[in-house]
Amino acid sequence: MGFWQKSMIAVACSKPLRAVGEAVGRKTGLAAQFVSANDGHGHVARAKTLSEHGIRTSSFYLGEYVKDIAQVTETVDQLGDVIPKLGQAGLDVHVSIDPSQLGYMQDRALLDRNVDLVAAQVRQIAETAAPSQTIRLMIDMEDFDMVDDTLALHHRLSDAGIPVAQTLQARLHRTEADLSDMIARGAMVRLVKGAMAPPASVAFTERDQIDANYRALAGMMLSENAKQSGFFPVFGSHHRDLVLKIAKQADQNGWARDQFEFEMLYGVNQPLQRELVAAGYRLRLYAPFGKDWWAYAWRRVGENPRNLSLLMKSGLNH
Ligand SMILES: Cc1cc2nc3c(=O)[nH]c(=O)nc-3n(C[C@H](O)[C@H](O)[C@H](O)COP(=O)(O)OP(=O)(O)OC[C@H]3O[C@@H](n4cnc5c(N)ncnc54)[C@H](O)[C@@H]3O)c2cc1C
Repeated sequence: MGFWQKSMIAVACSKPLRAVGEAVGRKTGLAAQFVSANDGHGHVARAKTLSEHGIRTSSFYLGEYVKDIAQVTETVDQLGDVIPKLGQAGLDVHVSIDPSQLGYMQDRALLDRNVDLVAAQVRQIAETAAPSQTIRLMIDMEDFDMVDDTLALHHRLSDAGIPVAQTLQARLHRTEADLSDMIARGAMVRLVKGAMAPPASVAFTERDQIDANYRALAGMMLSENAKQSGFFPVFGSHHRDLVLKIAKQADQNGWARDQFEFEMLYGVNQPLQRELVAAGYRLRLYAPFGKDWWAYAWRRVGENPRNLSLLMKSGLNH
């Protein structure tokens, strides 16, 4: 991971910078580029508008590595409020969660209780949803030392019949083995490069290596074996060359357009978003809502310096 990305992760995690930045951001609308809305009501309205343009959404209530128990409870409440609203509006109920926002930082029993509350709501909607609606609880992947616990959470929910899905990071050496297991399970996996900075002992650190591994893993996800197992591939990336190569491979391997999807972050690389939709591919946007936008926005800047100008422009345009 380069100096720029490491520095921006440090900005994302800095408490003093966050205090000043949030105050400025509230006044200027700095976050509007990457955040769909301040609250659940606005988020559902935004998801509806996007759906009218053929774009699906994944709902994420902002907050990561949440230490304050009141904020953990608030996250559960906010998701509990938004899930039925999305369902009633006939939209996808595709909810992304970070274990570290739902109790992982406090204790595992609390995490399990909170995830079960959210999962129960998702399952309830799945029972009456229209065939056009995708209903999923997507688990994000955080630090490399959380992978075993996160996969255990996925498997427990899956075994209990919850429509669950899992994000895996192409940056990590272990992902090839984890993905093989997920393919054998006929799971849904969202493949991303990885936004964290794991050590070289467990991860590829050069951009070329990470891209090469992403391509190799994408090949596994689009194999005949994966198709036969009922596996559902999701490709989370804004990398145009990579995305277009994967789209071509999916077509060549006989995957129907509703058997896989691309997913991008709300506000990032919109020209590629439009290109994919126009070409008839399924596109979902990871759409965060809420007020805790600081760390999220600076991780995006770390991923691509171009996102800094997008962030600044959103502040000026407000
Ligand atoms: C839906 C989704 C969910 C995610 N969930 C997780 C998660 O659970 N855990 C995790 O660690 N990470 C997650 N990430 C972040 C991910 O790991 C990457 O850090 C992030 O997507 C950047 O990698 P990339 O493949 O998009 O492109 P990069 O490797 O950052 O960039 C490659 C190329 O993409 C293009 N590009 C990128 N940004 C822009 C832009 N703003 N404008 C124009 N072109 C651009 C450029 O051509 C650039 O050269 C998620 C990402 C997505 C899209």
